[in-house]
Amino acid sequence: MKIRIESERCKGHQNCVRAAPELFVVGEDGFAQVRECGDVPPALKEQALLAWANCPEFAIEVEDAER
Ligand code: SF4
Repeated sequence: MKIRIESERCKGHQNCVRAAPELFVVGEDGFAQVRECGDVPPALKEQALLAWANCPEFAIEVEDAER
């Protein structure tokens, strides 16, 4: 699984960081960034989907053929 943030949609709520701090971090500009180039280890798949579901701006994309 891989995740990315559409930066033009991100409003900096940080819901994603709260849902999955292992996968998202707040950048110096106050907006979210993905860690580790967006690669999601299998053990963090649920957190990735939780963050995706909690982004009010629909700014998170999840690439996963199995989803
Ligand atoms: S929840 Fe969505 S809009 Fe808010 S910081 Fe995270 S990616 Fe950006």
